[in-house]
Amino acid sequence: MKFTSTRNSGIHVESAYTIAKGISDEGGLFVPETIPGFGEGELAELSKLDYIGRAKAVFAKYLTDYTDEEISDALRSAYGNGKFENDIPDQLVKLTGGPYMLELWHGSTCAFKDVALQILPHLLTKAVQKTGGVKETVILVATSGDTGKAALEGFRDVDGTRIIVFYPSDGVSAMQKLQMSTQTGNNVAVCAVKGNFDDTQTAVKKIFTDSGVKALLAEQGKAFSSANSINFGRLLPQIVYYVSAYCTMLADGEIAPGEKINYTVPTGNFGNILAAYYAKHMGVPVNKLICASNSNNVLTDFLRTGRYNKNRNFYTTASPSMDILISSNLERLLYLLTDCNDKAVSGFMEELQESGEYRVPDSVLASLRDEFDAGWCDDDDAGKSIKSAFAEYSYLLDTHTAVAMRVYEEYAGRTGDATKTIIASTANPYKFPRAVLGAIGLPVPDDDFEAAEKLFEVSRQPIPEQLRRLKEAKVRFADVIDREDMRSFVLSTVLSTGGEA
Ligand SMILES: *Cc1c(COP(=O)(O)O)cnc(C)c1O
Repeated sequence: MKFTSTRNSGIHVESAYTIAKGISDEGGLFVPETIPGFGEGELAELSKLDYIGRAKAVFAKYLTDYTDEEISDALRSAYGNGKFENDIPDQLVKLTGGPYMLELWHGSTCAFKDVALQILPHLLTKAVQKTGGVKETVILVATSGDTGKAALEGFRDVDGTRIIVFYPSDGVSAMQKLQMSTQTGNNVAVCAVKGNFDDTQTAVKKIFTDSGVKALLAEQGKAFSSANSINFGRLLPQIVYYVSAYCTMLADGEIAPGEKINYTVPTGNFGNILAAYYAKHMGVPVNKLICASNSNNVLTDFLRTGRYNKNRNFYTTASPSMDILISSNLERLLYLLTDCNDKAVSGFMEELQESGEYRVPDSVLASLRDEFDAGWCDDDDAGKSIKSAFAEYSYLLDTHTAVAMRVYEEYAGRTGDATKTIIASTANPYKFPRAVLGAIGLPVPDDDFEAAEKLFEVSRQPIPEQLRRLKEAKVRFADVIDREDMRSFVLSTVLSTGGEA
């Protein structure tokens, strides 16, 4: 398997190179040159295996430059070591008379990002060795809330790595902020940035490709990589759970072999739903991929009309991890849908940068409409779905998954499609206790931890220990800086020569 760039099809590199580097030099994203498929009967075989067995089969098709042993080691360290409840990263819960919930938040930071970010450090350290190595890999992260904490936990005290996380100062929930500002570890730094997530992400991408900064790092044997979903090493572990969920449905007799299902995904940067797209094109029988957005509904419009236009209001919502107007991973989908046309993709991305919008040709729009459905809802409507899911199923939704539930129900009503549907459940409701409590109609205390206790009283769903502990945790990182100062923050953190902090 070789990988190329969405903006330069002349590039042919191995998976380790893409994982070590994160993003291609000209700013494109790495993609496999072809999407590998499952053989006849392979899904049925995989349905007899556990999560690690299924993951091994998927990984082996993409990471052909890793040995079987390297892949197994990485998978066991990430998923077989008590890092996820019962060592099951993808718990599938059936709501009687409703959709299936693919709970991806049973890991250390209570969001689906753990599934990829627990394994990425293992893949990355091996990738750095394979590619001739630097002394230190510097992971730069822009986070809309959940990636930051999951990446910090994944990379904390991993030899040969240092991690810097930037988050928008007013764009994350209180619990998310506390999760990051109290982060432990000797190779970590966290900093709030004034502005929204798009500003932060754009600034991080610029630092990544800044040749001056890269040269300074290189002098000290250091190089950047990314733990954002622009890194293919993030996407791959996410493909696995879509494959695995289908296999679980097969194994449980919920579907017949070959039967199609829908996936509904609460979407921001388009990474998670793109992984579902890859799973489909590997051979998982999928009817529709339903893309759910909050009030930042740029993707809903795009998937319906073929026109991407980020020139619109930016809303700060109760589902902060989806408050995004520039969905990076869409670039990978565009590459696939234009038959790998790097010139066309570069053109769209230039237009996006210059005027904030672009339009895809009708042929691409036809494929988008064929494979995807899309919808959005605001905080009020997401709140209604939290309330009704709790009343109907005694099931607590977090604010992101609630958007997906609402959009799915709207889709099912509009189309009459009765295909069995899996909703990606992306965060534990206790990450957003005040919003969830308010949605089910109870008085909301000012304090997140009090709200969590109240939520426990009514739901009896246990509060994750790792969130409960935050109440006593010491804040280590309180910096708030301007976007213009991110570059120097990075340099002073990375190039500090004195005694290690
Ligand atoms: C990151 C995140 C999303 C959005 O996922 P993308 O891959 O960025 O589309 C949705 N829900 C939660 C809880 C998240 O943390």
